[in-house]
Amino acid sequence: MMLKLISGLSESAGRMHAAAQLAAYFGCSDLIIFIKDPEIMTLLPAPGFPQTIPNGEAWYSFLNNTLKDGRYRDTLPFPDTASIQSAVGISGPYHSVAVLLGGNPVDADLLILKEILPIVVSLFIKEQEFMSAQIRTTLAEKTAAKAEKLATTIDLIRVHLNDALIKQEKDQKAIEDLMKKKDEFMDMASHELKTPLTSMKAYLQILQKMIAKDVNGSALHFVENANIQVDKLTDLVNDLLDVSKIQAGQMLYNFTELDINGLINEVVSQVQVGVSTHKLIVENNIHAIIKSDRHRLEQVIGNFLSNAIKYSPDADKVLIKSTFVDGNVRVMVKDFGIGIPAEMQALVFDRFYRVQSSSQNFSGLGIGLYISAEIIKRHGGHVGVSSDKNGTEFYFEIPVINS
Ligand code: ADP
Repeated sequence: MMLKLISGLSESAGRMHAAAQLAAYFGCSDLIIFIKDPEIMTLLPAPGFPQTIPNGEAWYSFLNNTLKDGRYRDTLPFPDTASIQSAVGISGPYHSVAVLLGGNPVDADLLILKEILPIVVSLFIKEQEFMSAQIRTTLAEKTAAKAEKLATTIDLIRVHLNDALIKQEKDQKAIEDLMKKKDEFMDMASHELKTPLTSMKAYLQILQKMIAKDVNGSALHFVENANIQVDKLTDLVNDLLDVSKIQAGQMLYNFTELDINGLINEVVSQVQVGVSTHKLIVENNIHAIIKSDRHRLEQVIGNFLSNAIKYSPDADKVLIKSTFVDGNVRVMVKDFGIGIPAEMQALVFDRFYRVQSSSQNFSGLGIGLYISAEIIKRHGGHVGVSSDKNGTEFYFEIPVINS
């Protein structure tokens, strides 16, 4: 009889029926086997038995007492909290417990239960292992599926990123090509413009001489004006050509030692010849030998001076002075003009930058200061500006060889 019941327990399908029969054998209504779950190290109803039991706390202390004493009698709620039943617990191998409910089995029967418990428990442990193996497989399969999905997503992101990078590289290349073309165009356009300008200038000079001999006053005036316009155009073209050269790193310098004092006086008198609105006043001039490209430094001083005149239409003077500052010579041009707002002062040396409020009233391309800053940089120096509502001071500093 007992053997039949145990072999019934080994059949997964009829296991619960066999457990009920075993309970009946001991004169009880239910038999529940608890075995330790290896994952969470806690006693849980073995596979197949009801997994939720009422009043967990009462069960918890009942199972613990059973484990402690080997056998324990009490009452327990089952199958719900309303029905309290008598219960006997027998501890088995591997911290397992068999609970007989709803009966009062005699000690001799309990000894039999104790005897067969190892076989019964091992049957359920096998089942539990099988189930957790199944759970693990399902979990592994799910994880593998998730990992695969994730890998696909990562691959997709990688492809998108790659595409974006390739596109960005292409865009970058397109911009660089465009900039290169623009520089080439500016270079070419400046050259193209310069050739007819040079011949026009030559023709005008010949014409000027011819008319001067014939003493025809009004024609001479027109030719002089045309000459001034051609000079302006030539300056603009030269500036554009300089920007191209700077961009291409092809601005050539011819450094010689020269006295800054002489250079300043020379540029001031040259500029003053063509200016009747402002008096250019050399305030203080020092003797200092510097290593410089004379033509380029003249260009910088000339640019500072012509800006000072252009941007101070209501003033009648511009000051220029040179001083020593920390082993450098500082040349400063001061005007009493429209000034530059503080937040724009750092930007005026940028290529093509013009202060918007002033650019509407004054002609220009926004490249003079950029060229000046580049030239001074190549002299091992730096440029600077300070300005307020009373006017502006532009300066450059370059190293002195001796004074
Ligand atoms: P341009 O005068 O041809 O525009 P620049 O590179 O010489 O180009 O000057 C850049 C900008 O700096 C000018 O457009 C002007 O807004 C401002 N600026 C230059 N010099 C002065 C000055 N002395 N006073 C006021 N603003 C100036």
